[in-house]
Amino acid sequence: MSTIQHLIHGELVTGEGRTADVFNPATGESTRKVALASRATVQQAIDSAKAAFPAWRNTPPAKRAQVMFRFKQLLEQNEAEISRLISEEHGKTLEDAAGELKRGIENVEYASAAPEILKGEYTRNVGPNIDAWSDFQPLGVVAGITPFNFPAMVPLWMYPLAIACGNCFILKPSERDPSSTLLIAELLHQAGLPKGVLNVVHGDKEAVDALIEAPEVKAISFVGSTPIAEYIYAEGTKRGKRVQALGGAKNHAVLMPDADLDNAVSALMGAAYGSCGERCMAISVAVCVGDQIADALVQKIVPQIKGLKIGAGTNCGLDMGPLVTAAARDKVVGYIDDGVAAGAELVVDGRGYRVAGHEDGYFVGGTLFDRVTADMRIYQEEIFGPVLCIVRVGSLEEAMQLINDHEYGNGTCIFTRDGEAARLFCDEIEVGMVGVNVPLPVPVSYHSFGGWKRSLFGDLHAYGPDGVRFYTRRKAITQRWPQRASHEAAQFAFPSNNS
Ligand code: NAD
Repeated sequence: MSTIQHLIHGELVTGEGRTADVFNPATGESTRKVALASRATVQQAIDSAKAAFPAWRNTPPAKRAQVMFRFKQLLEQNEAEISRLISEEHGKTLEDAAGELKRGIENVEYASAAPEILKGEYTRNVGPNIDAWSDFQPLGVVAGITPFNFPAMVPLWMYPLAIACGNCFILKPSERDPSSTLLIAELLHQAGLPKGVLNVVHGDKEAVDALIEAPEVKAISFVGSTPIAEYIYAEGTKRGKRVQALGGAKNHAVLMPDADLDNAVSALMGAAYGSCGERCMAISVAVCVGDQIADALVQKIVPQIKGLKIGAGTNCGLDMGPLVTAAARDKVVGYIDDGVAAGAELVVDGRGYRVAGHEDGYFVGGTLFDRVTADMRIYQEEIFGPVLCIVRVGSLEEAMQLINDHEYGNGTCIFTRDGEAARLFCDEIEVGMVGVNVPLPVPVSYHSFGGWKRSLFGDLHAYGPDGVRFYTRRKAITQRWPQRASHEAAQFAFPSNNS
């Protein structure tokens, strides 16, 4: 069985130490092993990045951008292979895997604009013969720690931009599905990236702690569950590092009585069950304003949930694959049991779902609960599976109060034809990313991605303009060249233009 290796200083290395099994979730078989980095291996990666930094920092942004252009081409040429690897280890369908790769490529495109992005700000004559400018300089060695659910896209949210800004990057991908992430990093080297500018170390808590504790690592981007995000934010900031830590979610879709129901149902099907619900922007709660729209929703959506095409993600034309691990499947089944015990109405039950020929795969069928209430665990916690909960409320205000009271605030959306309701929702909802008749309002690469409340710890959102700010330090320079013959007396009053 092959072992997925680290990529340090442009070379694949196994390092000493432990390994973990990587599974094919559609069959339940262990297909590969992945090396888990020890502290010493992480230090090798840090040393490599540190050595590469002086030259990379001084490489013209236009040259860095050319590497990104070639990288984009290689990603496009290798789409089929990358999608296959994602699907084999994560379980999502090939089409969905290609979709996440394409969204990742958009971040490479944004990073390709490095010369434009890093132009800085300039003012001539801020005082007599005095010019001033702001320069955006790289931080040095920065790190990223990423989750299993987007093994291509989430790393691509981070390192293309960090590298384009002149930093050297250490990536610690999820140990559950690392093959596509590693292949993508190898392609960046094929595109001409100098050794050491990007290093990939696989691993678990040991590797993460080594990155947090290393004084050479100046900033950490994390995406994953909220408890780990909180831990990394606390431990990183305590050591004076810049940290952005994106966490979990519980995303509500509000259905107003005037919603275009057929389109809302299609949108909900994709947003709740796509990728088996393993998306941080998945819709897991439908908040229906009035019983009439709730009853109509149930009537229309139930046949579609029962008709979901479920199977091994590597087969074409499916709607949904398995969950990522046996533990993830058992957790989702546990939540469904809990919802039943709490008195929610289980309208479609996905427990015990079997796919012929894949009896040991980690499958759960599409599941629907109605009459869910805010005191139930299935409402409060992130299930991260193919489970949609319907909550019935009497008004838009009640729906908004429910969402604003929830501890998470990643994404939300409203389905309506009423502009006034939509505007109120956008203005007053306490959530970082909002859709109006758009179920998955994931910002494009030239905006920035991030939730509110316990969905994000830190001041800046990921990628786009906030990503540039995160991966650079502003330096404000004020410069004057006095005329040769002039002599100026000392000034003791604080200088200003208002004299
Ligand atoms: P996870 O928190 O288990 O793992 C994320 C990363 O942290 C992995 O690289 C993992 O190796 C590492 N890690 C795990 N345990 C650790 C520990 N004890 N100490 C240090 N590091 C540790 O998350 P996951 O299961 O891979 O991903 C799913 C979660 O990620 C969900 O909660 C989902 O909502 C969230 N997510 C959020 C976003 C977002 O943008 N807000 C995007 C994708 C996923």
